[in-house]
Order: sequence, then C-alpha cells, then structure tokens
Amino acid sequence: MSELKLIELDIKGKKFASRKIRRIKWLLRILAVLIILACIGLSALLVYNALNPKPQQEIPQQTETPIVQTGAEMPEYPEGRADITGLLLADESMGKKAYLTFDDGPSENTAALLDVLKAYNIKATFFVTGEAVNKNPDLLVRIHNEGHAIGNHSNTHVYNNIYDNPDSFWLEVTEAQKIFENILGAENVQKLFRFPGGSFGEKKEQFLPLIESMGYKYVDWNALNGDAEGGDFTAEKAMEYIEEQCTDTGNVIVLMHDAKNKTVTVETLPQIIEYLRSEGYSFDKITVN
Ligand SMILES: [Zn+2]
Repeated sequence: MSELKLIELDIKGKKFASRKIRRIKWLLRILAVLIILACIGLSALLVYNALNPKPQQEIPQQTETPIVQTGAEMPEYPEGRADITGLLLADESMGKKAYLTFDDGPSENTAALLDVLKAYNIKATFFVTGEAVNKNPDLLVRIHNEGHAIGNHSNTHVYNNIYDNPDSFWLEVTEAQKIFENILGAENVQKLFRFPGGSFGEKKEQFLPLIESMGYKYVDWNALNGDAEGGDFTAEKAMEYIEEQCTDTGNVIVLMHDAKNKTVTVETLPQIIEYLRSEGYSFDKITVN
C-alpha cells in the first residue's frame, strides 16, 4: 500500500471518529434537554399539588346553628300542661304517677331535697342550669349518683339571653349540656330540656322546632307547689296548690324549685310526698326514650 493511500485512510478514519463523537454529543444534548424538561414538569406538578391540595374525605360541615325547620308541627297543649310526647312516662292504666321536678339548681337546698327523697326512697328529676352546676359540680354528681334524672334548663336562665334569637337559644342549651357532660360523661346526660318559664307563649314558638331539631325532648308541668310566687309563700299555700291540682286520676308533673330562697319547698316536701302517696300516686323520674 502506498504511503498516500495510508494517509487517505487515516484521514477517513479520523473523519469517521469525529462524526461519531458529534452524534454522541447530540444524543447527550437531547438527553439533557429531556431530563431538564422532565424536571421542570415534575416541579410544576409538585407546585400545582401544593397549591391545590386534593380535598380530603368529605368532612361534614359543623354548622354553628342548626337550621330552624319551618312548617314543623307545633305541639298543641293548653298553657301550663305538660307535653309528654316522646317521654317515658308511665301508662296511666298502671296507676297514676307523680313526677316531682326541681328547677334552677343545684343550690344551697339541693342536699336537703336529696336527703328527703332518699328517706322516702323516691326518684325525682332535676332541671339544672349550666351556671348553677359550675358553682356546685359535686351536687350534680350526687343527684346523678342517687339515681335521679337530670334535665337541661339552659346555661344562664336569663330570658333575654336565651330567647333573643335562635343562635342565642342554641348556645344556651349547648353550653349547659357541655358542662353536664364534662362532669358526668356524655353517656350519663340525657337530652331532656325544660324551657325556663315554660315552653308556652307566642315568643317561644320559634324555639319548639329548634329544640326538637337539636334532638331534645322538652317537658313542662301540669301541677306546681306555687313556690315561684312572691315573698309571703307559705307551707299552707304549697299544700293548697298540691291538693287542688293532684286529685284526678292522671299522671302529674309537679313543678318546684331548687334555689337558695325556696326553703318552703324543702320544708313541705315530706308533706307533699305523703299527701301524694295518700292519693294513690307512686313516684318516678322523667326519662327520654
Ligand atoms: Zn327555671
């Protein structure tokens, strides 16, 4: 082979080699571009996901105030009578029952009332307020431990707070219930409500479907000892009220008060119990289905 031919081959070989290198360089460039594009795409996806978090499992929205059902049926009963719908009250054919109820406590008189009830082995129902329970949590525990029923009677018992609007009503009931549940445990607190001042009257009509939509039963009374009357309330008057109202054959739900100044109620409770027994009543507490 001539020297010229060898040089020619050598040049061809170099040309071939440099083409190959160029091709590899191009491939590398394309690869680099692809990697950069992939990185940009991935970053964009991460940023998008960070800015638009996927909705977690649907969490039921906690509504601050339950919606008042319009057009819900209003319970109908004469003023001051007990609405006993949905309550576990005794079948009157099995004999008449007296449900003694004490509102507004606990108070300085609760222990004395509980002593009397214990002496007669009677169970009653205490409609307590959140504020009073906060002052006397031990008395709520005693009421519960001695087997009596507990009902919600609002948080403050201030009519202007409770009945101002549906929100204020809802808050009054809910806050009180939370206080009772924190002390006794939710499983020991039933959803039973007594409207301060009773459930009757035009102003309270809007709250009847509301309390029901909150899952509560409510109850008024159909007899009372009159202890919500003014200063000259006496034992004689209390007995007059009871004897006048608790004579028929039906169940009676007797309204009384557990508050500091209701000492006549404490004093007359044994007499009231004995009178009701003599009239054929047995006693029970109010419980919700
Ligand atoms: Zn009250």
